[in-house]
Amino acid sequence: MSANSRRRALRRMGSLALLLQAPTLVRAASAASIVAVRVWPAADYTRVTLESDRPLAAKHFLVDSPDRLVIDIDGLELSPGLRELLGKIKPDDPFIAAVRVGQNQPRVVRIVLDLKQVVAPQIFTLEPVAAYKHRLVFDLYPQQERDPLLALIREKEQAETQAAQAVQDALGELIGRIDRPASVASPQPQPIRPPASAPALSTPAPAPPPSPPSINQNRLDRLIVIALDPGHGGEDPGAIGPTGLREKDVVLAISRKLRDRLNSNPNIRVMMTRDGDFFVPLHERVRKARRVQADLFVSIHADAFITPKARGASVFALSQGGASSTAARWIADKENRADLVGGVNTVAVKDAEVMRAMLDMSTAAQIKDSLKLGSEVLNQIGKVGRLHKRSVEQAGFAVLKAPDMPSILVETAFISNPEEEAKLRDPDYQDELVEALATGIARYFAKNPPLARHRAL
Ligand SMILES: [Zn+2]
Repeated sequence: MSANSRRRALRRMGSLALLLQAPTLVRAASAASIVAVRVWPAADYTRVTLESDRPLAAKHFLVDSPDRLVIDIDGLELSPGLRELLGKIKPDDPFIAAVRVGQNQPRVVRIVLDLKQVVAPQIFTLEPVAAYKHRLVFDLYPQQERDPLLALIREKEQAETQAAQAVQDALGELIGRIDRPASVASPQPQPIRPPASAPALSTPAPAPPPSPPSINQNRLDRLIVIALDPGHGGEDPGAIGPTGLREKDVVLAISRKLRDRLNSNPNIRVMMTRDGDFFVPLHERVRKARRVQADLFVSIHADAFITPKARGASVFALSQGGASSTAARWIADKENRADLVGGVNTVAVKDAEVMRAMLDMSTAAQIKDSLKLGSEVLNQIGKVGRLHKRSVEQAGFAVLKAPDMPSILVETAFISNPEEEAKLRDPDYQDELVEALATGIARYFAKNPPLARHRAL
C-alpha cells in the first residue's frame, strides 16, 4: 500500500468511524455476519464460500493488467471473520495469488482477488441446507477448459517414456559393466509394441521440439480408460463417522490407491472425476467420464445409514424403473442430494438440465453390463469384508446415468458403523479393498473385452 493510498484508507476509516457514531446508523446492527469462510482450490476451479446468517447480495467485475476480480458485497461490515479469508489462500492455488478486503463504503465490503490467470467467474448464492446457513459462492473457472482426454494421453506417454528411460539406463549400466563398446545398439524396450511410425527414442540431434507430442491413434483406441469417481468433496463432506472420519476424505484415499493399482497396467489409464478436496456436481462427473470416452465408471462411497448397526459393502447399478429395495431407494435419494449440499450454480442449471435429459436415455444394455460388472466387484469384495446384500442392488442414482458405459456405485462400508469406520481408516483394509475392486474390474474385462474405441481428440 502506498503512503497515499494508506492516507486515503485512514481518511475513509476516520469518516466511517464518525458515521458509525451517528444515531441514524444504529441499524448497522442489522448487517449480516459471517459465520465461516472456506476456500477450495483445485485445477478445475477454485471456490470461495462466504457463509453468513442472512443472504448476501454481491456485484462483481473483472479488471485486467494485472488480472483481478473485484466483488462488492452489500449489507456487510468488515469483521475478523471475513478477514480470515486472507489467511486461507494457499500459495499453490491455481487461480488466486492474493486477496484483499476493505470497507469500500458503509455497509459495502469490497473483496479484491489478485489472479494468477484469466478466469471465467460464477458468483451465486445458496439457500440454507444441511448444516449450512446462507452461502455466497465465487467459483473461479479457467477461461479455457483443459482437454481431459489429451491430459490423460500425455500423462500415459510421459509414464511410458520414463519407464523406457529407466530400462535403458539400467541396460546402459549393465553394458558398461560387462565392458562392451558403447556403440552397441541398445534395444528399445517398450511396454507396448510400437507402431512402425513411432519415433525412435534415441533420435539424434537436433532435439525435437518439446510439444506437442504426437499421439498415435491406434494406441489411443486400444487404451482402456476407467473413470473413478470419489464421491462428495469440498463443501459436501458426505457422511461423517462416529469419530469424525469424513466420507469425502476416505473415498478419495481409496480411489487414489485404486488409480495407482489400475495404472500399473500399461494398457489402462484412470481418469479421476476429482483428485482433491473440491465439489464436482453429479452431472459433471458423468460428463467428465464421457469426455474421455471411459470404458467404465466406478463411483466410490462410504455412507451412513439410519441405524449405526447397518454394516457391509453394497454395489449399485442404475434402475430404469423403481428401486430394488427401500434401502436402495433411500441411499440413491441421499446421494442425489449431494448437489444441494455441495452447491450448484442454478444459473448454469440449464446446461445441467439438457445433460440430464440426455442421460435419461440410458439403455437396458448399459444396465445389463453394469450388473455384470457389479457382480464381479461384489464377489471380490465379499472375500475381504462383509456384504450388506449378496446381489447388486438397483436404484435411480443420477451419477450412474451415462448411457454408453457400464456404471456402478460401490458403498465400501457404512461409515456410521463404529467398527466399519475403524476399518475404513485402516490403510491395510483400504489395500485389501483396492485389490478386490481391481480384481473385480479385471475379471469383468476378461469376460467382456472392451470394444475397440475410436476416440477422437
Ligand atoms: Zn456417498
